[in-house]
Amino acid sequence: MKDETKCLHAGYTPKNAEPRVMPIVQSTTYVYDSTEEVASVFDEPMKSLIYSRFANPTVMAVENKIAELEGGVGAMCTSSGQAATLLSILNICEAGDSFISTPEIYGGTVNLFAFTFKKMGIECIFVDPNASDEEISKAFKPNTKAVFGETIANPALTVFDIEKFARIAHAHNVPLIVDNTFATPVLCKPFDFGADIVVHSTSKYMDGHAVQVGGVIVDSGKFDWKKGNFPGINEPDESYHGISYTETYGNMAYIVKARMQLMRDFGVYPAAHSAFLLNLGLETLAVRMKRYCENAMIVARYLENNDKVESVKYPGLESDASYELGKKYLKGCSGVISFVIKGGKENAMKFMNSLKLASNEVHVADIRTCVLHPASETHRQLTDEQLVAAGIESGMIRFSVGLENIDDILADIEKGFSAID
Ligand SMILES: *Cc1c(COP(=O)(O)O)cnc(C)c1O
Repeated sequence: MKDETKCLHAGYTPKNAEPRVMPIVQSTTYVYDSTEEVASVFDEPMKSLIYSRFANPTVMAVENKIAELEGGVGAMCTSSGQAATLLSILNICEAGDSFISTPEIYGGTVNLFAFTFKKMGIECIFVDPNASDEEISKAFKPNTKAVFGETIANPALTVFDIEKFARIAHAHNVPLIVDNTFATPVLCKPFDFGADIVVHSTSKYMDGHAVQVGGVIVDSGKFDWKKGNFPGINEPDESYHGISYTETYGNMAYIVKARMQLMRDFGVYPAAHSAFLLNLGLETLAVRMKRYCENAMIVARYLENNDKVESVKYPGLESDASYELGKKYLKGCSGVISFVIKGGKENAMKFMNSLKLASNEVHVADIRTCVLHPASETHRQLTDEQLVAAGIESGMIRFSVGLENIDDILADIEKGFSAID
């Protein structure tokens, strides 16, 4: 199946006289005929359903759909994108470990990596994504367990060189984790370029309609955990009567461990109703992504030719620093553009406050056009240095192009510029 078809059909195939649409299974628990059967499910939790903190049929249908879209062996949904990123690292690293990340990542991820993980005894080593293989390799320590990057960085909009970082990670026997939120599997499949684990905030394009927050972790099944130093995955888990995830679950080890151990303990599983809504968004994802990309390309060119604009970042523009990487990794550059308006924060505010169609909201990748000022909103907790590292200037506006008619979007932007003299 191609992506458009997977979006509609993957994850759930109704049998004779079953509902056409995956129903919302609104139940915390599942009934068994005997105590022995319940006991056996506890021994082998992947065999069947126990409790909706681990797994739920509605959520599982969505997990299977996303796994198929990404080309992975399994997926686990989480109650937010933050929870997905958190668990993707905690599934590998514990106190005393470190991992490597590019600083060109989502602001919430910077907070998690630089501050919260530090308190938990896990060190994040930030590296310059443009440095050479040799330079980046120098950042590895004996306790380094993973490498992390974001396909299209939110909001810096730089494109991550997946093959390069996969090469470096694998040379050190550690996996590459990629946050593929902005690209979605429709525009980029990181596993095709060597990534091992993918995470998403499904709150963005996957949901698309701005109706529910969610996240997902997808496992490629390709990383050889036994080659590296991963006692948490390879050696007996005393909290699960001594099983070794790699011995028992083979190439599903990572994603099964995430569910059996971390979801059990952290309990950040989404509600069935949220998964139902996410599925509605996913059904049209491939069709919507095409249109977002088309609209955004027109807006990016318009901004590039406007003399009130200092610079535009959109990997689809030939002038963009990420143009070549975008051509290599992306089938389209998504609907998100960032641009720096001349006159800094003051003019950025005037522009944004004059928009009528585009809504001022802390969201991105909505079906409707929306706009945000990263320096004073989403990224306000970052220091000036971190803002520079994340590629954010004071006059920068993140413009998320929606599915409205392009003429209406452009007319609104013109209204914004006319407020600046
Ligand atoms: C929004 C976002 C997140 C966090 O996701 P939530 O669903 O808001 O928790 C992580 N990564 C990227 C790239 C995002 O855009």
